[in-house]
Amino acid sequence: MIPYNSIGERFHFSCTLCANCCTGDQQVWLTLYDLYKMGRFLHFENSRELFDEGWVKLVKGENEVWRPQIRFKTKPFKFCPFLSNELDNAGKIIGRCQLHPEHKPLVCAMAPVGRIVDTEKRTDEYVFVKPAPDCPGVKNSKENSLRQLLNNYKKELDHQRHFFQLLEKAKKRKLKVKDSLQLLYTFPLGNIFEPPNDDPE
Ligand code: SF4
Ligand code: SF4
Repeated sequence: MIPYNSIGERFHFSCTLCANCCTGDQQVWLTLYDLYKMGRFLHFENSRELFDEGWVKLVKGENEVWRPQIRFKTKPFKFCPFLSNELDNAGKIIGRCQLHPEHKPLVCAMAPVGRIVDTEKRTDEYVFVKPAPDCPGVKNSKENSLRQLLNNYKKELDHQRHFFQLLEKAKKRKLKVKDSLQLLYTFPLGNIFEPPNDDPE
């Protein structure tokens, strides 16, 4: 796990599009709303297609619950399937996220800001997480506002909290992988985000 530090209202960071956090052994954990955005980007009708077509896999995360993760390609090296390499004006290779900006997973969009939620104590903590061990963006002096970032992603952060509450219920019910897929991660991708019910029965 990459270590993290506390973060203040002002933090220094600017992404250089080096793609280090989109390659190798990086793990991109997804929320239900990320599945919704990603599925819509791919013109799927149901979130299940993300799993059936191999874009996303379920991995047992913390607390023994099954959570969705982007399935990285493995050849010719490990990389996110949404990464696209391009040449900039100076002829340098840069990594572009095809999901940027509106379909990008929350964890990628918020980087380097991470969130630690305790659903029982109802606490939220924001921390500085280096997107990759060799991320050059952390050396940049560009100043950013945490409050502004949280405002920009308020809706998605609310969806994320709701998702964590569903995961708590799934944990109590000890949902197996097949049931998790069916009850938590299979839902229609219409014009309105319709996540599963509060009680995945
Ligand atoms: S490792 Fe850092 S600089 Fe490179 S793409 Fe990721 S966030 Fe941007
Ligand atoms: S979704 Fe985009 S930003 Fe996130 S790992 Fe994949 S290419 Fe990188």
